[in-house]
Amino acid sequence: MLLDELYAKEVVCPICSNKFKTSKVRRSKMRIEKRDSDLLAYYKGENPIKYSVFVCPECGYAAMENIFNKIKEKDKNIIREKVSSKWNKRELPLKRSIDDAIEYYKLALYCGQLIDLKRVQLGNICLRISWLYRIKGDDEEERFLNYSLSMFEEGYYNERFSKEGFDEITLGYLIGELYRRIGEIDKAISWFGTVVSNPLVKQKPRIEKLAREQWYVAKEQKRAGA
Ligand SMILES: [Zn+2]
Repeated sequence: MLLDELYAKEVVCPICSNKFKTSKVRRSKMRIEKRDSDLLAYYKGENPIKYSVFVCPECGYAAMENIFNKIKEKDKNIIREKVSSKWNKRELPLKRSIDDAIEYYKLALYCGQLIDLKRVQLGNICLRISWLYRIKGDDEEERFLNYSLSMFEEGYYNERFSKEGFDEITLGYLIGELYRRIGEIDKAISWFGTVVSNPLVKQKPRIEKLAREQWYVAKEQKRAGA
């Protein structure tokens, strides 16, 4: 039985054409309680980030919802060869635990690496895995935060910004904030400075405010000798 806050969405797998149901959190039931400075949002009930990866129970293909169907023909064959051939069909729970969600994101990360997704998209998957570990209170958070940071930075310099990823301002802010979180304060300060001096920042007032706040926090940390 689904809880009131979840509903089942029917999805057709682009790899094996299997039809399956995946849960989503009803928008009307979402109540944000607080947000961390790296944009992780906490909710009163189910956290929708647990449901952003779709997994086909039949063939094992997993991807973030926004790109699940955008897979190229040649990449479908890669998934069939490397994932589906080894996948044990199984029923997947409609209500996901944190551990279920971590497992599905890792599967999406694996599929994404096989088909060579953009660095920024892979970094986003890693950031979400890091968030799930944070919610769980698990030290693995830091390892995935580091992966995320290096992929974001590589993507920032080498990839075109697209609607499947982050815009330049949000990505620059996240890189600064992730540097601050791993204790590289000078790099954090430099990234926040880059973000607030970018003319595009005016289009993102919420991020601009955050960047100025965290820039100040980082400078205070430096002054305190952190
Ligand atoms: Zn499938």
